[in-house]
Amino acid sequence: MKDFIIIGAGQSGLSIAYYLKKQNLDFLIVDANSEVGEPWLKRWDSLKLFTPSEFNNLPGLTFPHKKGHYANKYEVANYLKQYATTFSFPITFNEKIIALKKESNHFILKSKGNVFKAKNVIVSTGPFHTPYTPACHSKISDHIVQIHSEHYKNPSQLQKGDTLVVGAGDSGVQILQEISETNRAVYFSGTTNIGTLPQEVLGKTLWWWFKKIGFLSASKYSWIGKKLISGRQPVIGTDVKKLFKKPNVHCVGRTLDTDNETIVFEKERISSIKNIIWATGFKPNFNWIEGEQMDSKNYPKNYRGISEIKGLYYLGLPWLHTRGSATLGGVKNDAIYLNDYILKMKATVKEHSKNENKRIISLNIK
Ligand SMILES: Cc1cc2nc3c(=O)[nH]c(=O)nc-3n(C[C@H](O)[C@H](O)[C@H](O)COP(=O)(O)OP(=O)(O)OC[C@H]3O[C@@H](n4cnc5c(N)ncnc54)[C@H](O)[C@@H]3O)c2cc1C
Repeated sequence: MKDFIIIGAGQSGLSIAYYLKKQNLDFLIVDANSEVGEPWLKRWDSLKLFTPSEFNNLPGLTFPHKKGHYANKYEVANYLKQYATTFSFPITFNEKIIALKKESNHFILKSKGNVFKAKNVIVSTGPFHTPYTPACHSKISDHIVQIHSEHYKNPSQLQKGDTLVVGAGDSGVQILQEISETNRAVYFSGTTNIGTLPQEVLGKTLWWWFKKIGFLSASKYSWIGKKLISGRQPVIGTDVKKLFKKPNVHCVGRTLDTDNETIVFEKERISSIKNIIWATGFKPNFNWIEGEQMDSKNYPKNYRGISEIKGLYYLGLPWLHTRGSATLGGVKNDAIYLNDYILKMKATVKEHSKNENKRIISLNIK
């Protein structure tokens, strides 16, 4: 029986591990992958961070690249590995937790081959669980290569010919940009009404300005936070207007339906497409946690990571508290809050058992 089990050895799990270790608490990290940094290594090859190095620091170890550098996925994965090694965190790999439930005063965690027990559990399984692809993808001919952005690495995975990228988020436009540089017609499906922000403004990085105006620290409960959550996130670092004007890029509106080799868009029907990249996002999956209440977006209900189930915590959810909650440099603030809460709970339990001992002693004397 562990005092704490952290599920997930990504930036969130490692950040809270740093504070638990500082308190000398008994904990174990379990992760479905075979090494730290794997979620980053699985992403596409040309991925570059939108945050500069000085905004990528986890607690206790500076991101090892110069100020203003936009790291690639290998550099991030290496940093996370270095982080886990520096602090010698106990991590068990290749253990995907498929069921978590509370029994009396402790939790039972089950993977395919093992059972773990802990008094407290911190779920830091990241925001990206089940890749989402519109249902109409199943009616598409086998002759067309279809890849979800989760599995897209580079254009060498594509066959010759016209290519469609669906999805107007950061991943969609970055992949569109890369494929538009290969010699082919590229169709873009999704809204073209995308706000974009450059990485540098007036000689300062965008993130410097975000920090300056308080954008990164606005709580989701504040007026500004609520406004930010409800609005569409701007794309950072890709000049979308210029991209959409390239002669080989054709914007075709939303994808409405498919029929074998024909894809039906808002603006036209096209039958020449040979490859499709679905950059259509992910759905959260927390249904392996018994008894947890979900919000309207299927994320666990919590206040700053504290569940209503005593002893159960979350870290790394998008907008757990601020826009920075699911970023390398921002997760630290939520980890500090959770650690402080855990410290207070420990003190309360200690005080309670001290009082209980006094009560028993006085009963015995009587
Ligand atoms: C394309 C892209 C670009 C990004 N760019 C930036 C950027 O520039 N700057 C920035 O700060 N952030 C960026 N982010 C956001 C953020 O840093 C990442 O999403 C980050 O990976 C989330 O960290 P995490 O620890 O919460 O989750 P993850 O990194 O997803 O780690 C979760 C871990 O939990 C494990 N796990 C999941 N389920 C289970 C289970 N049931 N049992 C056991 N283990 C499990 C996984 O194996 C994984 O190791 C980007 C994200 C994406 C997708």
